Amino acid sequence: MFDLTGKVALVTGGNGGIGLGMARALAQAGATVVLAGRDAAKSEAAVQALVAEGLRADAIEADVSDEAQVGRLFNTVEQRHGALHVLVNNAGITVRKQVQDLSLGEWHQVMDANLTGAFLCCRAAHPLLRRQGGKVINVGSMMSLFGAPYAAAYGASKGGIVQFTRAIATGWAPDLIQCNAILPGWIDTALTRGAREQVPGLNERVLARTPAARWGRPQDLGGIAVFLASAASDFVTGTAIPVDGGYSIA
Ligand code: NDP
Repeated sequence: MFDLTGKVALVTGGNGGIGLGMARALAQAGATVVLAGRDAAKSEAAVQALVAEGLRADAIEADVSDEAQVGRLFNTVEQRHGALHVLVNNAGITVRKQVQDLSLGEWHQVMDANLTGAFLCCRAAHPLLRRQGGKVINVGSMMSLFGAPYAAAYGASKGGIVQFTRAIATGWAPDLIQCNAILPGWIDTALTRGAREQVPGLNERVLARTPAARWGRPQDLGGIAVFLASAASDFVTGTAIPVDGGYSIA
């Protein structure tokens, strides 16, 4: 039910952090994983690490906010691997500023990477996914649910991810494509390490508010990724599932 042998899974931002945690779990379940990111050296290092673990992995350089690069990305996936079964839209960035301090350029930068990138990748993936049916996993955030003063653009993009997921889940159900969102809690990655350095007391506040009383690790997202990529979730679509150590219910 959870076996992904013979499946091809593309993970945007799969060369580090949460994306690599999910890619590793998908590959351990049998998939060939394709990591897409802007930093070719980082992607190559991630591929080498996965291959050294006996897993099947490939990297393709792409900026998900660039329409032409996204087109090339999916053409390359088809040329090299012949099919696509799973798309994980995980690439994301943040600019930690209150809305009154945010430039239009910064707003676009965040929206383009986090929300427009998911749109462009989904649109380009659809012809491949509909051939045999497939899975889309979009990465939202606790900011899909809650507000925070420093996360105007980020929260808008992550709230948008949930509604976007619902739209494609309804539209693509007849194509046997299930689309779901994962909402990670506070996970220890490069993204949040920056925030921890910038924001005094953040570490303590996260630990106090999270019932599991710890930060998440990238591998904590592995199980849900395998579930949502596999036949085990064939009747699950349009959901937004928190993976947060209980943060969102406390
Ligand atoms: P990281 O900064 O570790 O990873 C982000 C990844 O996204 C990198 O691999 C980066 O690769 C890639 N990326 C960024 N912009 C682009 C782009 N335009 N095109 C292609 N790839 C891009 O962060 P996390 O692992 O923490 O974050 C992963 C996702 O999880 C994000 O969507 C984030 O918003 C979300 N998230 C994270 C949480 C956390 O606590 N860490 C909590 C909730 C959600 P490269 O540099 O090579 O482009």
